[in-house]
Amino acid sequence: MAKIETTCVQGGWEPKKGEPRVVPIYQSTTFKYDTSAQMADLFDLKAEGYFYTRLQNPTNDVVAKKIAALEGGVAAMLTSSGQAASFYSIFNICEAGDHFISTAAIYGGTFNLFEVTMRKLGIEVTFVDQDASDEEIEKAFRPNTKAFFGETIANPAGSVLDIERMAKIAHKHGVPLIIDNTFATPVNCRPFEFGADIVTHSTTKYMDGHACAVGGVIVDSGNFDWEAYHDKFKGLTEPDPSYHGLAYTKAFGKGAYITKATAQLMRDLGSIQSPQNAFLLNIGLETLHLRVPRHCENALAVAKYLQNHPKVAWVDYAGLEGNKYYELSKKQFTNGLPCGVLTFGVKGGRDKSIQFMDSLKMICIVTHVADARSCVLHPASHTHRQLSDEQLLEAGIRPDLIRFSVGIENVEDIIADLEQALSQI
Ligand SMILES: *Cc1c(COP(=O)(O)O)cnc(C)c1O
Repeated sequence: MAKIETTCVQGGWEPKKGEPRVVPIYQSTTFKYDTSAQMADLFDLKAEGYFYTRLQNPTNDVVAKKIAALEGGVAAMLTSSGQAASFYSIFNICEAGDHFISTAAIYGGTFNLFEVTMRKLGIEVTFVDQDASDEEIEKAFRPNTKAFFGETIANPAGSVLDIERMAKIAHKHGVPLIIDNTFATPVNCRPFEFGADIVTHSTTKYMDGHACAVGGVIVDSGNFDWEAYHDKFKGLTEPDPSYHGLAYTKAFGKGAYITKATAQLMRDLGSIQSPQNAFLLNIGLETLHLRVPRHCENALAVAKYLQNHPKVAWVDYAGLEGNKYYELSKKQFTNGLPCGVLTFGVKGGRDKSIQFMDSLKMICIVTHVADARSCVLHPASHTHRQLSDEQLLEAGIRPDLIRFSVGIENVEDIIADLEQALSQI
C-alpha cells in the first residue's frame, strides 16, 4: 500500500489512457443510461453507477476514496459540512428512543447538535469527562446506548483523547467508537489504528486548508461487527422497507454503514458536498502531508515563545513539555505534536486580551481555525459573548482565552507580530 504522502497527492484517481490527469469536476446533477432496466438496477442497488448527484457523484467519490485510504478505512462519504458528518454518523445508527455517549470537550456546534437538536429527535446524549476513570465513564452506558463519540483533539479546549482507552470501553459495551479527527488529520493520527470504528471530519479545516470550502466526511473502518449485536443495530441488520427489503449488512458486508448513510440518509436529507467543493478539497489534500507538520512546528515554536513572555499568563498546547496531554501526544500523534491550534491568555484578563488582539497586524481576527493563514479568536467576545465571566468559567472558557490557529507563514514573522502586539499592552 502507498505511503500517506503518496496517497495525499495521488490517492483515489487513476486515469486511464487519454483521461484527464487531474480529477475532473463532474458538474452534472444527472447521468445518462441506455435502457430503463439499467436505471432500475441502480435504484435497487443491484448495479453500481451514478444516476443523481444527491446520491453519488464521480468527483465526490474520488475524493471520498482518497480520504478513506488516508484513514485506512474501507469506505467514505463526503457531506456538505462537518456538522452534517457528525449528525449522520450518529443518526445512521440511532433513532428516537436511543441513547449515545459523547465526551464533553467537543466543538461547540457539535455540542449544540447533540444537546439540543438530537434531543428534539428523541435521541438522548450523556456527556462524560474524557479524563475520568473507566469506571466513571462506564456508568453512562445504558441498554439502549448505540454509540460513543469523541474528538481526537477538542476544539477549542485542546484536550487530547486517549482513543485506545475509549475504544476498549465502547467495545466492552458493544457499541462503535466514533471519532471526530478534524484537528489531528490522518497525517498526525489514524484513529482506526487505536481501535476507533468510524471517523468524521470537518474538511473545512486542515483538509481543505485554505478556508475555501465548507465540507465534511465520514469514514468507516469496516471493523465493527454489527451482526454480533443484531438486535441493537436493526437499521443495518434487518430489511430496509424503503429499499425493497434489503438488509445492508447482508448485502454489503463491510460497506454496510456507508451504503446505508448514502442510500438512506443522503437520499432523504440531502446534505451533499458540491462537486466544485470536492475538487477544491482535493487540491487541499494534495499538500496535507506538507502543511500539517509545518503547522505543528510553528505552533510549538510559538507556544515556547509565549510561555517565556512576561506579559503572557498561561499557554495550553499539548506539544509543550509539562502539558497534561504531552505523553499521550507522543504516543498517539505521528510526529508527537497535536496540531497547529493553541490557546493562551495575557496578563490583565479580558480587556488586555482584546487590546492585544486588536493590535495584531498580519495575524487576523476571524471565525475560523486550521487554515494556512494565522488567525485568532476571543470566545468571550465572539462565539460566547452573551455569557458573563462567571458563566464563561462554568463553561470551561477563561475570559482571557485566545484561540490561536498558527499558520504556515514564516514563524519569525508570526512571532514578530505577536511581539509588537504584546509590546502595546
Ligand atoms: C469546525 C468543526 C466542526 C464543524 O464543521 P463545519 O464544517 O463547520 O460544519 C466539527 N468538528 C470540529 C472539531 C470542528 O472544528
